[in-house]
Amino acid sequence: MNILSVKDVSKTYQSGTRKLTVLDQVNFDIQAGESISIVGPSGSGKTTLLGLCAGLDSASTGSVVLAGNAFEKLSEDQRAAVRSKNIGFIFQNFQLLPTLTALENVMVPLELKKRKDAKAKATELLTKVGLGDRITHYPSQLSGGEQQRVSIARAFANEPKILFADEPTGNLDTETGEMIEDLIFDMNKEQGTTLILVTHDPELAKRTNRIINIKGGKIQEGSHV
Ligand code: ADP
Repeated sequence: MNILSVKDVSKTYQSGTRKLTVLDQVNFDIQAGESISIVGPSGSGKTTLLGLCAGLDSASTGSVVLAGNAFEKLSEDQRAAVRSKNIGFIFQNFQLLPTLTALENVMVPLELKKRKDAKAKATELLTKVGLGDRITHYPSQLSGGEQQRVSIARAFANEPKILFADEPTGNLDTETGEMIEDLIFDMNKEQGTTLILVTHDPELAKRTNRIINIKGGKIQEGSHV
């Protein structure tokens, strides 16, 4: 079953009189449970593509269907509901809320879903990523690797069908990065969570089932799509 289908997708930005085509007729399908990396030079449209796949932004033309939902047919509220039901997101710069503790950060998506066991579930998730003894720490009191582990626990609080990760190890040293990679791939293998990540790191890309290589807004030949 296709969990994500990208059909004839183009994205154009208008800046003044200039038109910039960032993605040009991109096509691929992803099956549930796969792991995919999107690679390519800086400025090639990787983050834009990830944002379109996650319904954070709209394609100029074409169709993005995630878990049976065609984003281009939905209102912004409906897209937000599809995201909350299906997607987890991890960012290079973690994007934790600085005024909340680790526990409170992980509780946010659970409380949005009105889960009565939000605190217990968030504690369980933080323990799973090895932070059981850091739950009352604020992001500023945690190392980069620890902050990324909190953001993984937060992403998995949603029990997402798809985890999107934009350079998840880009701000971490090699050893910490590998630990974060292991956590992400464990979740892919153990829970069948589909994984779509953007990376500059060829070693990380090699760990995924398929590589989509973007250049000049197009998928390059030789990509395993
Ligand atoms: P990558 O992730 O591969 O580095 P991006 O998807 O971030 O590339 O950006 C691709 C191109 O689109 C870049 O030239 C960037 O400047 C441009 N771009 C990205 N977002 C916008 C925007 N909101 N408005 C105008 N141009 C943008």
